[in-house]
Amino acid sequence: MEDLKLARIGKEKKRTIVDINGIQVGKDLVVIAGPCSVESEEQTIKTAIAVKKAGADMLRGGAFKPRTSPYTFQGLGIKGLKILENARKETGLPIVTEVVDARAVSWVCEYADVIQIGARNMQNFPLLKEAGKSKKPILLKRGVHSTLSEWLNCAEYILAEGNPNVILCERGIRTFETYTRNTLDLSIVPAAKEVTHLPVFVDPSHGTGKLSLIESMTYASIFAGADGIMLEVHIEPEKAMSDADQQLSPEDFAKIMHKIKKLKQSYDTIVVEDIG
Ligand code: PEP
Ligand code: MN
Repeated sequence: MEDLKLARIGKEKKRTIVDINGIQVGKDLVVIAGPCSVESEEQTIKTAIAVKKAGADMLRGGAFKPRTSPYTFQGLGIKGLKILENARKETGLPIVTEVVDARAVSWVCEYADVIQIGARNMQNFPLLKEAGKSKKPILLKRGVHSTLSEWLNCAEYILAEGNPNVILCERGIRTFETYTRNTLDLSIVPAAKEVTHLPVFVDPSHGTGKLSLIESMTYASIFAGADGIMLEVHIEPEKAMSDADQQLSPEDFAKIMHKIKKLKQSYDTIVVEDIG
């Protein structure tokens, strides 16, 4: 990975901190929560209020959905972005939302606080370059078949265009295992942090695809050294129009948030202070 000019961590081990409306990504443990898709004003605002109450730092929600089948819900598009804008007004939570098309980056930036580039688009180079031309923080998910080197080179595309605000997000990779939706590769967290100064998040929702596994993988992600967690939460999980099997209820999310705060303290005392 010697070819990484900007993404590589230096000898002094200085890490990037991405400031999002005062939230210090890379310093404090940050939790992004919200529905897979923005489906309606009511669903989004109710979910936003619930995740805010439970302690989430940012709201996620897809308005442009990269779906496997063209016949499934594709997202509300611009209407979805306007709903997210209202959710931010209502809660104050910064908005994380996906862009799937390079031509949309500049105008989605008017609504979003963080632009997500999804796993399917990790190596969409025109999209990465456009994201690099904007100064918005970019959450770059790991592609399902990507090595660490490929992933970091995609971050490099964004950095090389002059945008230093890149956050990486592990979301599971494709292996021979079929019990889980993806195989959450938690060893990539300390591995990535060995090579790059960029913050590394984990998304246990897409990483497992199974409600029963999300909680334990969230805690495991923190102990693996993740700088943040992304979780899908829906006000009525069984009615979700995308990824219904992995939407946490607000109650389950609140329980996880409660434990995250406690675990973070143990992580800081046991791992950071004792082991370094
Ligand atoms: C998402 O977070 O909404 C999403 C589509 O995730 P991924 O790109 O990781 O599949
Ligand atoms: Mn989803």
